[in-house]
Amino acid sequence: MATKFNYNALSALRDAVAELCPTQVIDPSSSAFKGAQNSFWNQVQRQKTPECFFQPAEAHQVAKAMLEVVKRDCPFAIKGGGHSSNPDGCTVNAGFQFDLANLNHIEIAEDKLSVRVGPGVRWGDLFKVLEPQGVIAVGGRDYGVGVPGFIFGGGISYLSAQEGWGIDHLLAVDIVLANGQQITVDKNSHPDLNRALHGGGAHNYGIVTNLTLKLHPYQGMWGGYYAVQEDHFDAVFTAYDNYTRSLPANGKAHMIVDFFRRDGVMIAVHFMGYPEPLADPPIYDEICRIPSVGNTLRLADYSNLAAEMQNVTDSRGKRNAYWTVCMAYDLDLLRSAYTAWAQITEPYAKRLRFAFDVNHITPAMRNKGAGEGYGNVYGLEGPNEPLTNILLTSTWTDEADDEEVALVLGKLGAAIEDLSREHGKFQSFRYMNYAHQRQDVIASFGEKNKTFLKEVAAKYDPNGVFQRLQVGGFKLDGPRSTS
Ligand SMILES: Cc1cc2nc3c(=O)[nH]c(=O)nc-3n(C[C@H](O)[C@H](O)[C@H](O)COP(=O)(O)OP(=O)(O)OC[C@H]3O[C@@H](n4cnc5c(N)ncnc54)[C@H](O)[C@@H]3O)c2cc1C
Repeated sequence: MATKFNYNALSALRDAVAELCPTQVIDPSSSAFKGAQNSFWNQVQRQKTPECFFQPAEAHQVAKAMLEVVKRDCPFAIKGGGHSSNPDGCTVNAGFQFDLANLNHIEIAEDKLSVRVGPGVRWGDLFKVLEPQGVIAVGGRDYGVGVPGFIFGGGISYLSAQEGWGIDHLLAVDIVLANGQQITVDKNSHPDLNRALHGGGAHNYGIVTNLTLKLHPYQGMWGGYYAVQEDHFDAVFTAYDNYTRSLPANGKAHMIVDFFRRDGVMIAVHFMGYPEPLADPPIYDEICRIPSVGNTLRLADYSNLAAEMQNVTDSRGKRNAYWTVCMAYDLDLLRSAYTAWAQITEPYAKRLRFAFDVNHITPAMRNKGAGEGYGNVYGLEGPNEPLTNILLTSTWTDEADDEEVALVLGKLGAAIEDLSREHGKFQSFRYMNYAHQRQDVIASFGEKNKTFLKEVAAKYDPNGVFQRLQVGGFKLDGPRSTS
């Protein structure tokens, strides 16, 4: 998709928006500009220099700026919590940066069944407000991740075994369309757009200025991490298999396993989260009998577990990239995929840090939404059996390694997909929030869902503004280029 942007009009655009909203535009000469750049999670994004950061305080200002952007055909980007892992995920060099950080309202409904949340809110801050009220949202596992990107990209939560994807708990949104119109979307009002927003990525349709999320009763949690070294990996895989088999009956437990090298030794860190204040839930017993080199398991609040995750993973401000693969759950396949990953990444181990993260796509994530009539566009409905989502990550320091990292991640993804085909366990689904911008996420939802998403976009954005002028984000017709 080759697009010609009107770069010449950028300074006129910046001046026009500054005239409409004088205190909301930060240009490169301002001392606040560097701080705004450093609010991105990924160092690759921190290095970009937009024409300006536009930080609206109210939704109508987003609408006004949108009209100015479209009038001048200028490239733009939308930043919510700024945690996209992709170079072009939510920022732009020489373009207009919508930075929604100041749209940060949190309003719990009187009946405590829902909460209105601004797109500038991070999960940890939201949990801190919700927990004392005895309620919780199906939110992220890392404190700093933004609410909008997480929700509109899907959302794997510590509550996902019970409640499914975060997106399955989105009740309504306020959105600004390409023509500047501000509308409220829910299952009764604009139901087609409502369905498209359940998985198709809000960035393909508009700029969301409010999310209304369903709330769930909350009394506290148990969780933390449990780290095991390589010499016990046989036990790790066996225990993981038994844990997986117990999940359907348990229906609550959640865990990510993160494999990586530390000082030449492979480690598996199990991040566990149980959505009730139950000390040492028995479903984790077998794992916790394996000798560990680090253990923080405890009764804790969700916000506390999310803060720990942020500290332990320590990726903020570094160069980062993600790649995603999905397969039906199978222990032999999982071991083979891990072995292939370990072999392929070994030669790079001194220079580049790679990780292999295993998440379940739980039966509730596949079927709960559709079963209760709200559903999503992922096309994952099927047997009540878990799928495996592998997140392949890399963290490195030298810009000169950027291209090599992308190539190695692509090679890893292809090798694991080949293995899953050999095992008859291949799944085309690519999880938006863990995907590299070279992966075609929307096509992975299946032809019918892709066609539907494109029809809805043609209705609400007939001139294709969000496909054409927005530089990043997963496009309806696949990656824009091989950047
Ligand atoms: C450290 C870390 C931990 C993570 N943990 C988890 C996890 O536990 N579970 C999980 O499922 N995922 C997780 N993720 C992935 C995360 O959910 C995605 O990166 C998500 O997109 C981040 O949301 P954001 O609002 O911070 O990002 P942004 O980069 O601001 O936004 C992501 C995308 O959404 C678009 N967007 C943002 N706001 C709006 C809006 N208001 N209107 C329209 N479009 C918008 C952006 O343009 C961009 O395309 C994690 C990522 C990181 C870096």
